Parts: sequence; C-alpha cells; structure tokens
Amino acid sequence: MQNHSVTKSKVYLKRIDDWTSSAAISEALLSVWQIMDGDRLIKKDDFLGIKLTFGEEGTCGYIKSDWLKGITASLRQKTENLFVIETNTLYREKRSNAVGHLHVAHAHGYGIGQLGIPIIIGDGLHGRNSQSIAIRAEHFENVKLAKTVCETDFLLCLSHVTGHCQTGMAAALKNLGMGCAARVGKLIQHSKTLPEVAAAKCIGCGECMKICPANAIGIKKKKAMLVKERCIGCGECAVICRSGGIEIKYDENVVNLQEKMVEYALGVKKALGSRLACLNLLYSVTKNCDCMSKGEKPIVSDIGILGSIDPVAIDKAAMDLIGKKTFSEIYPEIDLEVQIRHAEKIKLGLSDYELIEV
Ligand code: SF4
Ligand code: SF4
Repeated sequence: MQNHSVTKSKVYLKRIDDWTSSAAISEALLSVWQIMDGDRLIKKDDFLGIKLTFGEEGTCGYIKSDWLKGITASLRQKTENLFVIETNTLYREKRSNAVGHLHVAHAHGYGIGQLGIPIIIGDGLHGRNSQSIAIRAEHFENVKLAKTVCETDFLLCLSHVTGHCQTGMAAALKNLGMGCAARVGKLIQHSKTLPEVAAAKCIGCGECMKICPANAIGIKKKKAMLVKERCIGCGECAVICRSGGIEIKYDENVVNLQEKMVEYALGVKKALGSRLACLNLLYSVTKNCDCMSKGEKPIVSDIGILGSIDPVAIDKAAMDLIGKKTFSEIYPEIDLEVQIRHAEKIKLGLSDYELIEV
C-alpha cells in the first residue's frame, strides 16, 4: 500500500523506451498501478472517473484509448461503474459543449463502442453544471467544480505531461485544477477583469440578464448593457451566452493563474476526501498542451509513466525528470515552480518525494 511518509511522498516510475506498441504501454500503465497497489484504493462498486483530456481536433499527442485496456480491465474487477470524465473547454470550439465534445472523443478512440467505457462530460451540456466547494485558501473561499466530479467516488487523474503557455507545465495539477473546474471556474482562474458586452455579437436574448446574480445586466435597444459597479465578476453571463455576446479577457498573470489553478485542485481533493490517484505520462512532451489543434515536435526524449497518490509530488517528479530548464528556455517569463510551492503551502501535497523505479 502506498503511504505518505511524514516528509516525503512516494512516486513510482516505469521507464518506457518504445512508445509504438500499445500493448506494451497498456502493460506498463497497469504495472505502475499495481505497484502503487491501486486496486486497494478502490471500493467495490465505486463510481470511478478516469479524468483525462481527449485533445483538440487535429492534435495527436492525447492519451490513446488502447493504452487504457489493461488498467480498465483491472479496475473492472472492483467496479463496473467506471467512466471517463472530462469537462467543457472555456474557449469556444467543439469541446465547449458536451455534444461537440463527445464527437471529438469518438474521433480519438473513446466511447462505449471503443474503449467500452461511457463518457460523462462532468459540467453538463453547456458547462453550467457546477458545484461550489469550500476551500478557504488565498485566492478563493470557494471553487466551482464540475458537478459530476464532486459526485464521483474515486478519481483517477491520467495526464499527458506537456508544456503550457500560461502555466509553464501542464500535468496532474492542471488536469485537476483547470480540468475539473466547470466553465465558470475556468473563467475565474483565467480572467482578472470584469466581462464586457460585445454589442456586435449580442442578439438581445436576455439569458445573461436572467442568470446574473448581481442584477448587473439590463437589455436596452435589444442589446445587453452591463453595469460595472454592480458586477461581481462571477462569469455566469459569459458561460450562458451562446452568441459570444459577453467578452472575457484571458488576462490573469502567470503567478496568479498557477496559484488559482492549484487552489481548484485542492477543491477536487476536498470534494473527494482524498480519494484520488494520479498517473502522469511523460511521452511526446511538447511545447503546448493537447488543446492545440496541431501536432508538435517533442522537446525532450520520452521518459515513461509516473504514479502517485500525491498530485504535487508527481508533478514535481515530472518537472525534475524533464528538467526545469527545458520549460524555462521555452517560457522564460514563467516560474513553473510557483504551482508546486503554492500547492504545498495550501497543503495539497508534498513537493519532496521518493522516486521508486519499477
Ligand atoms: S450578451 Fe448573450 S446572453 Fe446576453 S442578451 Fe446578448 S446574446 Fe443574449
Ligand atoms: S460577471 Fe456575474 S455579476 Fe457580472 S454581469 Fe456577468 S453574471 Fe452578472
């Protein structure tokens, strides 16, 4: 059984030289899970969500569904209530609603007819199904997570480790913090300024006015009007508008964004009562994450698979194995250890780890 020691978390590493054989990768993932004694973390008939991202249309780095065959067969011994969980994107592409999202998932090999496991888009059709979780941290008192994430018994966070233009590195902490947030939670992390009405796109439907909790929106001459003095910046109007009539700015600075992201990850841990495990896949580590709709060349050689119950330790191990310099050369303005330091400060996990090669 994997345990936190007082000062260090255990992180398991299985090195993989050849990423061309799906059967070998599936076996390797399963072996990391087994050495973590992962099945013992699962209770009979748990509703177990495997959190991953299907990638944007046109990308090729996403985690392949064939790689999950071994681990899902093993998990099925404990529960048939297994599902893949993902949330809608904030930006308006196919994956910003559940229907488009399921089409992309299917094109990338996921779904009941392919992997044999259903997919649930955790924040619903338009990304509005959220649940508030109290965390009482530095940026947020409460975070708004995808509702289904909060209803899940156990979350297996499966992350393709890449670089990221706003957080430096994207791995378990990002998959949990940004990836488990409802759309409104993603907006609050990314934006520090109040939304604005884009009059040219507004069709005057009034949906934003109905949902606004601060009575800050009215309709004049068939256009939304936002009263800034009343607005509390909750972002609900931007999420409900289907016409692009509410503009948001991705203007949060890289330090605050990383800190907000790990506070959201803390929300996941609080919602699940620590019923969480992480697997980080260190292959095809590219400059950008799988939300880019294009293939990219890797920036380092492939490494292998990490496993831990500690999302902070596993990301620190990924950072150390890839080399902090690799990311800082690409993103010199981003100190990606901000996310690790803040995550440890808010007691999400430990940055100190014992690396155990299997
Ligand atoms: S901003 Fe969007 S939701 Fe609000 S009235 Fe205009 S179109 Fe409708
Ligand atoms: S951000 Fe929230 S408070 Fe501000 S106008 Fe939109 S819905 Fe209303």
